[in-house]
Amino acid sequence: VYPDDGDNVETIMQNADTAMYHAKEKGRNTYQFFTSEMNTDAVRRQQIESNLRRALKQGEFILHYQPQVDFACGEIIGAEALVRWQDPNLGLLYPNQFVPVAEECGLIVPIGRWVLTEACRQTQSWLELGLPAVPVSVNVSAIEFRSKGFLDGIAQTLKETGLPANFLELELTESILMHDAEFSTVTLETLKGMGVKLAIDDFGTGYSSLSYLKRFPIDTLKIDQSFVRDITTDANDATIVSAVIGMGINLKQRVIAEGVETQAQLAFLKSRKCEGGQGYLFSHPLAANRFANLLVAGSEFRKVCA
Ligand code: C2E
Ligand code: MG
Ligand code: MG
Repeated sequence: VYPDDGDNVETIMQNADTAMYHAKEKGRNTYQFFTSEMNTDAVRRQQIESNLRRALKQGEFILHYQPQVDFACGEIIGAEALVRWQDPNLGLLYPNQFVPVAEECGLIVPIGRWVLTEACRQTQSWLELGLPAVPVSVNVSAIEFRSKGFLDGIAQTLKETGLPANFLELELTESILMHDAEFSTVTLETLKGMGVKLAIDDFGTGYSSLSYLKRFPIDTLKIDQSFVRDITTDANDATIVSAVIGMGINLKQRVIAEGVETQAQLAFLKSRKCEGGQGYLFSHPLAANRFANLLVAGSEFRKVCA
């Protein structure tokens, strides 16, 4: 609106464009008036994007590893690789501070490729050192999953790093899989054929079609931490978690609980026969060398699970 949103044609058009972009983001079929915050937001994103390009070039990403623990024996049965960004000016940044922007601008594809390569390289090097290494789980974004070279990239990375395929698990969310279930079925079958394991991340937060869920070759269901948080106080969450565990057992899928923080949550999950989990009760995500120490130390978590 002239003159509030600009005193010349270019500015008005540019701001209108920004407002349109926001309207599209809100799910389309709506309208938005321009506000100055939209510009600060856009500038901030642009800044993150150009910093991300630099980060890729300069190797500023690192991986932390969070152990997945078998509740019955306390042994480490897996590791989730979680990306962090060591920005020289801003310090250590967490995925929620940059993954959404990386997904928007497509940089998640090369970043994901780096994550995959690094996770495989690291795990293979632990195997070669004779450590009791465990399979590594890597998070995959929708854009990566649908990108052209995705399957080839996985095959090539396994080949280049020498990591046995059964030491790699890919974590996908329900929304990624349900978006185009036919495409997903084919892609998952191909991955399965390669020997890679497959997990559904944040299970329960999406809209899974149960008929697809039984058709997808899924190895692991990861119950979202939002359900685990209140299992001991919220009867609905307790019911949902029990039902998911039961379903997983019947579908012969491994069920892993995310965000296990207390002994009471662990006790509940064990009583419902949940196979394992990860969370601060056991360990925060750790730098590679600290995770390696944990592997060497052996069943550090036996006492916690007893
Ligand atoms: P996610 O895959 O569901 O990962 C679990 C998140 O929960 C991690 O946050 C982890 O640090 C955190 N967490 C672990 N234990 C606990 C606990 O006991 N309590 C609570 N409150 N939180 C816990 P993080 O590392 O900040 O990652 C957030 C999300 O970012 C991940 O959720 C995943 O969706 C995404 N992400 C992380 N790494 C990558 C990556 O390499 N590629 C892609 N595409 N996404 C990634
Ligand atoms: Mg995950
Ligand atoms: Mg999750």
